[in-house]
Amino acid sequence: TYQVFTLGDALITFNPSETGPLRYVPAFSRKVGGAELNFAIGCARLGLHTKWASRLGGDEFGRVIYNFARGEGVDMEQVKFVENYPTSLNFKEIREDGSGKTFYYRYQSPILTLEPEDITETMFADTDLIHLTGVFLAIDPKNLAIAKRVLAIAKDKGIKVSFDPNIRLKLWTLEQANAAYQEIFPSVDILLTGLDEIDMIIGDSSESALEKFAAEFNIEQLVIKDGGNGARLYRDETWYTKEAFKVTPIDTVGAGDGFDAGYVYAMLHGYSPEEALEFANGVGALVTTVSGDNEGLPYLEEVQALIRNEKIIER
Ligand code: ATP
Repeated sequence: TYQVFTLGDALITFNPSETGPLRYVPAFSRKVGGAELNFAIGCARLGLHTKWASRLGGDEFGRVIYNFARGEGVDMEQVKFVENYPTSLNFKEIREDGSGKTFYYRYQSPILTLEPEDITETMFADTDLIHLTGVFLAIDPKNLAIAKRVLAIAKDKGIKVSFDPNIRLKLWTLEQANAAYQEIFPSVDILLTGLDEIDMIIGDSSESALEKFAAEFNIEQLVIKDGGNGARLYRDETWYTKEAFKVTPIDTVGAGDGFDAGYVYAMLHGYSPEEALEFANGVGALVTTVSGDNEGLPYLEEVQALIRNEKIIER
């Protein structure tokens, strides 16, 4: 079994029981969110050994996140509880037309207690791939130093690195994000990014601009996600394209994280470029058919069945 490592924050998400302005919503269902945790759950469901490093609030909601992730089979060895740092929350508002808003109640996140010194080589003893995202970098300026320490160990040990910029302009500005990304990109083997996102980062998303960008940072595999249009890959000076699967999306949040998990799985298992794109598209598509950020992450058999164009027989 291949081993994957990721690092990041998680939070509790409250989904409204009915649509309309939040002030009139009386009940919510409690879910668990966080880009890196979604990725970790996606990898675990596909069958990868997945270690998630994090810090959780020493409160009831911290327990909820811990039990949920552990129940999904994520390796929790590098997750610790921190007292006096309440778990961050967010509430979703969904309007009648399906549009939405998120209200964050982000305190001093427990993950702010993680220090560069906490990152040790032994954490990566059997790691085949390290996945980082821009959300972790955006939460606190100090996290860049933590990420750089992880990347130094990766380089030293010859561990592959994947990165999803996952730009969140609610957390920082484009300029701040780009300054951090510039320090990360040279260490990235596999860049997994949205088309709009890379357009913001480079200021141009033409194929020639993307090729120049990949060459400049020596990015081995540049993967561009484009929602319902599918995905593209630039690798070995060649472009590969795969159309998205035709599904009826219900909730597209988390599709990108699932796609990342699918691509990493396929890459580690030596799939060809086209097969890897198809597999990752399959994971992303299945995520959109279920409400919630990680509930729709598929098991290996479900992705394989979608690719073989089979109906999953429920009973
Ligand atoms: P986010 O981080 O908000 O989840 P993203 O921009 O990283 O999003 P998207 O491009 O929206 O990711 O979606 C990722 C992948 O999921 C797509 O490349 C595609 O494979 C799949 N996907 C997303 N939306 C659809 C859809 N409507 N139909 C089929 N597949 C989809």
